[in-house]
Amino acid sequence: MNYAMELLENGQYTNVSNPKYVAVTLESDCNLFCKHCYWTHNKSNIPEVLDWSSQIQQLVEWDTEVAYAGRTLTERGVQFIERYHKASGKQIGIVDNGYTILKFPSIMHLYEYVNISVDGIARDHDVQRGKKGSCEVAWKAICGLKQAGLDPIISTCVSPINIRNWGAFEEQVCESDTRMSCTPVLGVKGNKGRMPLFSETELRTAFKKLLSGCGKLIKLSDPAHVRALLPILRDFTWEVDEVSYETEVGGVLISYQPLSLDTLTGRNLSWNGKFYVNVDADDSLFDFQATDKRVLEVANMIAKEEHLLVREFI
Ligand code: SF4
Repeated sequence: MNYAMELLENGQYTNVSNPKYVAVTLESDCNLFCKHCYWTHNKSNIPEVLDWSSQIQQLVEWDTEVAYAGRTLTERGVQFIERYHKASGKQIGIVDNGYTILKFPSIMHLYEYVNISVDGIARDHDVQRGKKGSCEVAWKAICGLKQAGLDPIISTCVSPINIRNWGAFEEQVCESDTRMSCTPVLGVKGNKGRMPLFSETELRTAFKKLLSGCGKLIKLSDPAHVRALLPILRDFTWEVDEVSYETEVGGVLISYQPLSLDTLTGRNLSWNGKFYVNVDADDSLFDFQATDKRVLEVANMIAKEEHLLVREFI
């Protein structure tokens, strides 16, 4: 039985396999300070890792998928990607805010996919990203990547800031003929008090807007979001994938990956050189490394609530 089926039927997991994907976050800080950012900023006393050989070796042994998610692409990030590719023969995914990716054209052939963050029309994006002109930079990166023969994906954090002008934003995305993936903003400790969040009613209204626009991927993970959206989600026919639940509605693909499944199958390789489950990688607490015991403990703790939830609509 796969993990998604285990959650649906038992609500508890009994084993931990190698991670299916690892997000690599080599930098402890960023050039932006987005309102929604899930990371803590301006950390001091970060131990600098000079040699990433053992971590790269671990990734190769796991035979996992790797995404370079942060926060900006730097020389050491480029070296890491090149060394990982040499050791594994694999490409990586990358997420960028548009400011750094074009600086390193020599490794563009090593990208399996590229996500560029664009959070709405220019005015809304710049507010959410905390920097005037950052939207223009992101679009320039998209154009530059296309000119280089890549097929970048627009990655959007949907929020009360950008939903008001969502129609205009989607028109822009459609005109640019670029694929899009979006996620409703999560409320976490790192963005508390800084980022406006949706109420349940607002979230349902926003979700209907996303469904009625152009083709896209909507990614859901937060149990609170799924609970709020139950009256809508129940109307769809869902398929149980290995690590998620999916449905397609008029060209819009909805993928729900419960946090317990993310915990079991994903890891974060942090700037201190250690591996964490994603919920522990936040805020640089770094109290718990991703041992099998920790992974199972966290996944089963979250699974109790998610089991009841998925049974409501899958
Ligand atoms: S969301 Fe990404 S680009 Fe924005 S501050 Fe956080 S790490 Fe940087």
